[in-house]
Amino acid sequence: MIYDVAVIGSGPSGASAAFHAAKLGLKTIIIEKEILPRYKTCGGGFVFRGRKHMPFDISKVVEKEFNAVDIVFDAKNLAFKTKRSSPIVTMIMRDTFDHLIVKEAQKHGVGLIQGEALIEIELGHVATLKTTRNEFQAKFVIAADGALSPTAKLAGWQETRMMCPALEYEIKVPDEDFKRLSASARFDIDAVPLGYGWCFPKKNHLSVGVGNFMKNKKSPKLKLYYERYLDTIGVKKVLSSEAHGFIIPITPRSDGFVKNNVFLIGDAAGFADPVTAEGISNAIYSGKIAAQAIAESDSNLKQAEVNYYEKLNEKLLPELKTGVKLAKLFYENKRLRNLMLKKFGQHLADGMTDVFMGERTYPHDFKKSISKRLKRTVFR
Ligand SMILES: Cc1cc2nc3c(=O)[nH]c(=O)nc-3n(C[C@H](O)[C@H](O)[C@H](O)COP(=O)(O)OP(=O)(O)OC[C@H]3O[C@@H](n4cnc5c(N)ncnc54)[C@H](O)[C@@H]3O)c2cc1C
Repeated sequence: MIYDVAVIGSGPSGASAAFHAAKLGLKTIIIEKEILPRYKTCGGGFVFRGRKHMPFDISKVVEKEFNAVDIVFDAKNLAFKTKRSSPIVTMIMRDTFDHLIVKEAQKHGVGLIQGEALIEIELGHVATLKTTRNEFQAKFVIAADGALSPTAKLAGWQETRMMCPALEYEIKVPDEDFKRLSASARFDIDAVPLGYGWCFPKKNHLSVGVGNFMKNKKSPKLKLYYERYLDTIGVKKVLSSEAHGFIIPITPRSDGFVKNNVFLIGDAAGFADPVTAEGISNAIYSGKIAAQAIAESDSNLKQAEVNYYEKLNEKLLPELKTGVKLAKLFYENKRLRNLMLKKFGQHLADGMTDVFMGERTYPHDFKKSISKRLKRTVFR
C-alpha cells in the first residue's frame, strides 16, 4: 500500500498534521517510536492562540486554566499581571493531550504505527520508510519528530536551528504551597541568565522549570538556577520530584523546510516562539498548513512545496523572524528592556498577552516604535 502521507512523530505537530491530512481525504499513517500515551518533557502551558483553533473539544485533558498570568522581572517593582476573559494559558500534560489529538486523527481513518522508530529513508517519486520493524511507502513525508528530528538528518538537512536547554521538574509540594502557587501561572524573567523560570500548576502538582533561551557562551548551570528559583517562589520543601531535561529549537532552520518528499513541521523545523520558547501552538498550526499544502497539490510534489512556503510566509515565518530579533533585545539588552518596562511595563505585558491570545503578532517595526517612545519620554 502506498500512503499519501506518512507522518513521523505523534507530538502536537504530527498528530495535528495527520488529523487534517485525513480530514482532507489523504490516506495517512503516523509512525511513532514510543508507545502512546508517552511522557514528553514540557511545561504543558498551552496558550490561547493555539487552543482557540483546536478543531475539537480538549476539555477532558485540561488540568487547569488561567485567565490571568503573572510576569515577574528580576528587578525591583517590575511585576505585571495580565487578565483576559478566556484562558491565557491552559495547563495540560503532554501524554494525554498528544494522545487525544492522535485519537481524534484515528477517527478520520489515520493509521497508527507505534513502538517503531524511523531509521532509514529512501527518497524518490515515492518515499520508502524503514522503521525498526517494517517498511512503508508514502508520496509525502511529514517530519514531526521533534527537536532531534532524525528524519531531517536522514533527508539531508544540516543543523541551523539555535538549540536552547531547559530543565523541567514535576513536583509535589505541601498543601499550603500548592494552594498559594495554584492561584496563577507565573513566569519569572531572568530567573536564569538569558532566560526565565516558570511555575505552572497542574491538577495535583506543579510543573516548575528553567530555560536558557539565547545563545550563552557559558553553559548555564540550570540545576543551580532551578534550586534558586524554588526559593524565589517560596518552596522550601519538595515532597516528590521528577526531573526532565531537553532542548528547544528556538530559531527556524535557515536551509528550508522542504526537501524532495519531506516537509518539516513543529520543532523539527524550529517553529517554537523565539521569545517565549512556547512551541505547542506553532507545532499544531504548522501541522495543519503542511497537511493543507499537500491536500491542495493534487499529489504534485513541486506544487505542494510552493503551497507550503506560501502558507508559511503568510504568518508564521514573518512572526518568527521578528521574534528572533525581539528575543535578542529582550534577553541580551536588559538595561534597555528594563527601562522600557519601567515606563510602559503594563502596556508591554498586555501586548505580550495579546500575542499569547492570538490577537496580534509581534510588531515587525518594534525597534522604530521603541526609539519613538523613548524619545518621547526623554524629551517630555
Ligand atoms: C523543558 C521544556 C518545557 C517546555 N514547555 C513548553 C510549554 O509550557 N508550552 C509550550 O507551548 N511549549 C513548551 N515546550 C516546547 C514544546 O514541548 C515543543 O515545542 C513541542 O513539543 C513541539 O512539538 P512537536 O510535535 O514538533 O515535537 P514533539 O512533541 O517533540 O514530538 C516528536 C515526536 O516524534 C517522536 N519521534 C522522534 N524520533 C522518532 C523516530 N525516529 N521515529 C518515530 N517517531 C519519532 C517522539 O517520540 C515524539 O513523540 C517545552 C519544551 C521543553 C524541552
